[in-house]
Amino acid sequence: MQDTRDHELGMDRRITRRDFLNGVAVSLGGLAASTYLTGCVRHGLADSTSAANNPQNDPPAAAGLRGDAVGSFEPAHELRDGTFWQNAGGAAPTDSTYDFIVVGAGISGLAAAHFFRKQAGPGARILILDNHDDFGGHAQRKEFRVGKRTLLSYGAQSIESPSLFGAESKGLLTDLGIDVQKFYRYYDQNLYPSMKLGSGMFFDRETFGEDRLVAGFGAIPHHEFFAKAPLSEKARRDIVRLYTETVDYLSGLTREQKEAVLKKTSYADFLTKIAKCSPEVVPVFQTRSHDLFGVGIDAVSCATLYEEGDDYGYGYPGLDAMLGSSGGRGNHKPDPYIFHFPDGNASVARLLVRSFIPDALAGHTMEDVVTAQADYSRLDRPDAAVRVRLSSTVVGVHHRGDPASAREVEVFYTQNRRLFRVRGRLCVLACYNSMIPYLCPELPAKQKEALAYGVRAPLLYSHVAIRNWTAFHKLGVFQIAAPGSYHVYAAIDFPVSMGEYHCPSRPDEPMVAFMVRTPCQPGLSQREQHRLGRVELYDVTFETLERNIRDQLARMLGPGGFNPAEDIEGITVGRWAHGYAYSPNSLFDPDFAEDELPNVVGRKPFGRLAIANSDAGAIAYLDTAINEAYRAVQELSRYRGS
Ligand SMILES: Cc1cc2nc3c(=O)[nH]c(=O)nc-3n(C[C@H](O)[C@H](O)[C@H](O)COP(=O)(O)OP(=O)(O)OC[C@H]3O[C@@H](n4cnc5c(N)ncnc54)[C@H](O)[C@@H]3O)c2cc1C
Repeated sequence: MQDTRDHELGMDRRITRRDFLNGVAVSLGGLAASTYLTGCVRHGLADSTSAANNPQNDPPAAAGLRGDAVGSFEPAHELRDGTFWQNAGGAAPTDSTYDFIVVGAGISGLAAAHFFRKQAGPGARILILDNHDDFGGHAQRKEFRVGKRTLLSYGAQSIESPSLFGAESKGLLTDLGIDVQKFYRYYDQNLYPSMKLGSGMFFDRETFGEDRLVAGFGAIPHHEFFAKAPLSEKARRDIVRLYTETVDYLSGLTREQKEAVLKKTSYADFLTKIAKCSPEVVPVFQTRSHDLFGVGIDAVSCATLYEEGDDYGYGYPGLDAMLGSSGGRGNHKPDPYIFHFPDGNASVARLLVRSFIPDALAGHTMEDVVTAQADYSRLDRPDAAVRVRLSSTVVGVHHRGDPASAREVEVFYTQNRRLFRVRGRLCVLACYNSMIPYLCPELPAKQKEALAYGVRAPLLYSHVAIRNWTAFHKLGVFQIAAPGSYHVYAAIDFPVSMGEYHCPSRPDEPMVAFMVRTPCQPGLSQREQHRLGRVELYDVTFETLERNIRDQLARMLGPGGFNPAEDIEGITVGRWAHGYAYSPNSLFDPDFAEDELPNVVGRKPFGRLAIANSDAGAIAYLDTAINEAYRAVQELSRYRGS
């Protein structure tokens, strides 16, 4: 049966994908004490150039599993498990010295290099190291070829709420020539509405008893929409009541008392215990919070949901009358969600790299960067002031001598199973916080504990190149919430055209569909859910992912004529095992005093080391990554000239 179904789904079709060996199962071991320094000194180590130094190398065009793909994480896991140094080989020492070394070529690491260069001048020698085969971290570019057409997709999606950005992040965008106002022209906010395409919900048979796509969420009255859903009469009435009645369920309490209650109440509990809805209502909303928090409504407080909202416009009904107006990004977002380059925030990363190494990415504008082909062979050239070295996992960082008086740090990294050493006057760690204790055992114990506290949310961003989008068109949807399905959300691409890039605007044109899954285990704390979700991500095979993608698209879009065997041209799955930065959760975490917050304790500078990355701000946004880079570079400025 499996074979017949697989054939119908098109599992045997040749498409743009790259199968991969299953990832290594992840153990949940705690911090193991590392004896790596003795290991480094014993082995004697050398500098290298980038593994990516091959002109044919074109990571964005690679299909199949991207993000934390096989080959990017193994040394880090060996370091965690305490086995890395036993197996590390030796190499002849050469002592390349840089003014500034950055660990991590995500937005924060690249921004740190930008801010350092602004201070130190364009001649400053900078080395940026990253374990992936591409730069940008989460902001990773993906490309598909469908016929003669190149379609772009993304990791980190959009510049969100830029009018809330602070001076540093606004300034960086300006330095790069990004004028966010232009997106009002580039993003065709009218395209899908003009075709009467709106929001739908897919109710799957495993959760709701039958497969049914209901279109028109928000466009038709809620009672009409939910009348079509496979739910009991009571559940329908409850949901419609939540959306249409303005009830202050906590009317006897002051605003402060309400906030205190709602900080400690999950939205799942709110639905059944405060708003007294039928338990059948919970699965309709259970995964709505996945895309923003990586966990379901059992693990996110009402106060947080109210503050942060939901990017796709389905909302969390019932909270408004209790909380009134809020200043957060969510319900009162000042900007529309339109600040999207066709490759997402990869364009920000690419503009940063272009500013350091102009001949790696031809062009001069925020428009031409979209279609510019990066020359990866130019990223790490011996004669360049800034070098970006990919496929290089940093495994150790320490001061040469007493951190209080040392004049250099030493950084050890591994590339293709060989170990290398470089030295730097200053170093910014823009990698995950949870990695840093393994890299820097010399940090104070309290700081290492704080760095290990947060657990990043695991996510799958699946992109599927489809031959056309007539099924979406026929069904009247451009986005679908799928609360019980493997991927909990699916949509056709953002309608953005800029420079030479033109988004598909006719349903018979090829398109990229986006699907998101954040694996988690309802009922546990957010950090535990993330840990277990990560295990799932490392265990799942690409074959399983592909089958799930094909099956889900067939079930959601089949009534519109979608045929997965015929219509899928390519699949690329971005696996982000260490995804969104962790923000403390009022349901599970202590009410930390401001100066005791794990990210605040964890980001303290230590000698010539400073800590950037969105983890340092405990918020998973572009501007946080930039602001934390700025702070880290400022903290090191006292060493200028020494
Ligand atoms: C799927 C997804 C979608 C997102 N969408 C958005 C969005 O639409 N808008 C938004 O504002 N934010 C979004 N974010 C949040 C995003 O995390 C931040 O905006 C920002 O890109 C984070 O940058 P960073 O440099 O702090 O971290 P990262 O992007 O994680 O970069 C850190 C880099 O350091 C590398 N590294 C780690 N350890 C080592 C080591 N030992 N040696 C070498 N390198 C190492 C990592 O592999 C990574 O490449 C999204 C995140 C994810 C995962």
